[in-house]
Amino acid sequence: MTDATIGTEAMEEIDLEMGPGYDETTHFDPNATQNLALIAVGDHGLKPTPRKKKKVVKRWRDEWAETYKWAYVAVQEGSHRIFCSVCKEYGRKHRRNPYGNEGSRNMQMSALEEHNNSLLHKEALRLQMASRDKGMGIIERPLYIKDVSRQWSNEGYFQHTVSSLSILAAILRRDPHELEFIQSVQEVVHSLEPVLAKVPQYVHVLERLVEPERVVIFKVPWVDDKGEAHVNRGFRVQFNQALGPYKGGLRFHPTVNLSVVKFLAFEQTLKNSLSSLSLGGGKGGSDFNPKGKSENEIMRFCYSFMEELYRHIGPNQVPIFDTPSGDIGVGPREIGYLFGQYRRLTSQYEGMLGPKGIQWGTTNLHPEATGYGVVYYAKEVLADLEKSLKDLRCVVSGAGKVALYAVEKLITFGAIPVTVSDTRGYLLDEEGFDRAKLGLIREIKTHNKSLREYVKNYPRAKYFDDMKPWAVKCDIAFPCATQNELNHADAMALINVGCQIIIEGANMPCTAEAIDVFRKSKVWFGPGKAANAGGVTIQGLEMSQNSSRVQWTAEEVDMRLQEVMKDIYQKSIKAAQDYGIGNPEALLHGANIASFLRVAQAMLEQGCV
Ligand code: NAP
Repeated sequence: MTDATIGTEAMEEIDLEMGPGYDETTHFDPNATQNLALIAVGDHGLKPTPRKKKKVVKRWRDEWAETYKWAYVAVQEGSHRIFCSVCKEYGRKHRRNPYGNEGSRNMQMSALEEHNNSLLHKEALRLQMASRDKGMGIIERPLYIKDVSRQWSNEGYFQHTVSSLSILAAILRRDPHELEFIQSVQEVVHSLEPVLAKVPQYVHVLERLVEPERVVIFKVPWVDDKGEAHVNRGFRVQFNQALGPYKGGLRFHPTVNLSVVKFLAFEQTLKNSLSSLSLGGGKGGSDFNPKGKSENEIMRFCYSFMEELYRHIGPNQVPIFDTPSGDIGVGPREIGYLFGQYRRLTSQYEGMLGPKGIQWGTTNLHPEATGYGVVYYAKEVLADLEKSLKDLRCVVSGAGKVALYAVEKLITFGAIPVTVSDTRGYLLDEEGFDRAKLGLIREIKTHNKSLREYVKNYPRAKYFDDMKPWAVKCDIAFPCATQNELNHADAMALINVGCQIIIEGANMPCTAEAIDVFRKSKVWFGPGKAANAGGVTIQGLEMSQNSSRVQWTAEEVDMRLQEVMKDIYQKSIKAAQDYGIGNPEALLHGANIASFLRVAQAMLEQGCV
């Protein structure tokens, strides 16, 4: 950049907050020329200096992306910060190495360079420019503009209709920062192209469907064991009630925000529809982190959370907890505390479906249902391919409720699950887990220890710190941890090791780019809203069980779960066939189409809702 090219606007100076870790002088190598690119901006002649430095002044011009090719600038908490386009975090460690903070300086630098030159990055830049040309304002997250700006007529994609474009554009304009929500809507809108083309009145239904019916955000003050006060934010999104009362679990995790809860509630609405239940969709949660908190702290937090939430829920409106297994960070313990406080505040017992299944016993299968259902769904996919799970190598991510019950069922079917993972790293046992090994993993996780502990008992196993399992050779992959855990590079790695089927156990664990890779590689892809519908299905079964006053055995519930998963699979395939969509994309588009059509029909019949 030369001074001549810098206009008035370009002279604007901003402070770039470098984020945590910047003060660590040990991270700085004055001899590394690349440091210039990291700290000095453009060609302003700043010299690398080993001194601690918190802020850098930068002349900012439109072409900042030329300098920070893999990053974008956004204002957060009142100051300009530079964010990594891939991980969406700010801070030195991300600018140094978007893939993590491990390894030597040289390794980090080459990772960064690779990232700068990656196709993903170049595509991101191109799309960012395209969005500007389309007058959509400054959208600094090119990832999410992709479908809007592209023509999909080649390679089996549908041509975008003006209407679906306008739905996406409206969401981008209205809630540009709700990345997860935009991503989930985008995937569905893309699948619905042929439906909207055939029945134009659905465009207006879709327009109304993507807006939640009610959003509640509230303050959750609580006091820790030392007497210090804290405040968290609580959410309840009541997304759509066309098919029945809102139903959807709660998530307690530091990453919870409105975008995450909206995306989960939207997915839940379609999932409930797909599983043929008479239930609408909702979801809630808080940015509270239960990790490292004492029992009493968790109880106090749950009480405080319910003290506000109870005003917005109730037997006529919402069974708030969909499964006793809840969602990330919410298990039987949390549900128990929440229910206890709800009962004290309202003097009501009925209408709260979740807790009844835990200690007060109706069905026997609750916690297992989602994980088991994921495997039953995979079994259906394989049956159509005239294969079975026996002896197939399976890579599973996560080591929570969904992941471990999926592993358990895989073992039952004679498959070879070789990995589990968590926020700290992943565990690989080439010989496959059996029940005894799974018991050990459960024990390790119950005590919140590292999966590394497993290697002490099984020395032939390997533990990889701060890494994901997607480069492990496998036939099927089950991402069961969290949203967007499997990105473009991970998808490429999976394809390279010969993976042929991906079944989502978590909600939206694969990014749009990853799904694109699967599509191009013609591998089968089962979306979460179909594959992980087992939990909510069991809830529906429990409701009918309650009303008929019949107690089913675990075997009976398990049999029904298998039937429902088969039904979900078949409905998805049929919907895809009805709209001329062939394999392997049928599972994704079919699930979106079948679930949408049922909600849409109900909405149409109810008028302008
Ligand atoms: P969970 O019991 O809290 O387990 C989540 C697991 O994923 C934990 O092992 C966690 O690691 C790991 N994890 C979380 N974030 C991660 C990240 N960024 N990178 C790597 N690992 C990460 O939650 P869950 O109930 O199994 O839910 C998992 C997923 O399934 C979620 O997407 C949820 O929405 C979806 N789902 C759950 C149900 C259900 O009935 N539970 C139903 C439908 C869908 P740590 O142990 O280190 O925290």
